[in-house]
Amino acid sequence: MSEVYFSPMAFSRYEASETLPEKFSRMLAACGLGKAVQGKKVAIKMHVGSGVSYSTIPPVFVRKLVQFVQENGGECFITDHYVARRNPHERGYSEAGLGCPVLDDCAYFGKYFYTIEANYKKLRHVDVAGLIYDADFMIDFSHVKGHGACGYGGACKNIAMGCVTDRTRHELHSLEGGLLWDADKCVHCNKCLDACNHFANHFGGDGAYHVNYHNCTLCQHCVKVCPTDAITLDSHDYTDFQTGMALCTKAVCDTFAPKSIFYINVLTQITALCDCWGMTTPALVPDIGIMSSWDMVSVEQASVDAVKLENLIPEGIPQGMELKQEGHLFYRLHGKDPYVQIEKLEEVGLGTKDYTLTIIK
Ligand code: SF4
Ligand code: SF4
Repeated sequence: MSEVYFSPMAFSRYEASETLPEKFSRMLAACGLGKAVQGKKVAIKMHVGSGVSYSTIPPVFVRKLVQFVQENGGECFITDHYVARRNPHERGYSEAGLGCPVLDDCAYFGKYFYTIEANYKKLRHVDVAGLIYDADFMIDFSHVKGHGACGYGGACKNIAMGCVTDRTRHELHSLEGGLLWDADKCVHCNKCLDACNHFANHFGGDGAYHVNYHNCTLCQHCVKVCPTDAITLDSHDYTDFQTGMALCTKAVCDTFAPKSIFYINVLTQITALCDCWGMTTPALVPDIGIMSSWDMVSVEQASVDAVKLENLIPEGIPQGMELKQEGHLFYRLHGKDPYVQIEKLEEVGLGTKDYTLTIIK
């Protein structure tokens, strides 16, 4: 069983010491991170957002983490994929404000990486970002939210999609799937398009049926309305993508020495969609707090467990969008069970789902 530190949003008095940034400082002091970063080159991997998004980790927490690492003798930098062209300073992520450089993990042209061969279906190369590979220590500093392709985005997604090249991301996305279309049976009645509430399908210029699996919830409405049975469910579903994500994450993590990655999940402004959309929609549930652990699987499990259906704020869901009738809130929303991702992470040896919560107030 692994320990997950949890600083809850809940407070009992109107005092700064009762609020999340101060609790975060106490969490950092309690978790053993200070000694671990001493004398190390530390990559703080986070998502700097894009456009007018404002749900990524607020700069006040980033600044606190940077100060903590520096005070404990670590040399740190903030890093993400294609940072420079996403203008992070416009959302408060600048060297002047945070106290350390904000850098592209694969460099500006995306050509600074180290390749690890992979052998899972179309995932053949895990191109580990150069700055991640060359760091001594990584703090996987993640914002938790829903995600169309994985059900949720947290510690795993921050690494699998954010610490690799476009080639690896493309190979991962090519694992997505779930629907088969038979051109010979299709009579182009367009009923499948009308039946999709998620704008996930279209007919391309080539006349072929295309599905955007990020948006597709595998609800099978298109399957059911098709008068000629031209669309069927494939045996290979979204779990291939989840497996690929886990394998990719493992390959990146294996480039670090044992006990050289610390995971911090920030559970505030938990939205339906990923931070990369260049916008922010209303929160799905009230802010929960911050969780951290030396065990990725435990912190992911605890984070997903904490996002509860009974706390749903309906305004966080686009009007007219249809939720599934059972399962976790993220499953109802995106049709991908978030716990499948966590099971895959456990299967590849990244930790355990069994956790105990240590509350840091
Ligand atoms: S509902 Fe079936 S037949 Fe009609 S356009 Fe879609 S795939 Fe083709
Ligand atoms: S399965 Fe549902 S979400 Fe996916 S393309 Fe068909 S109708 Fe749209």
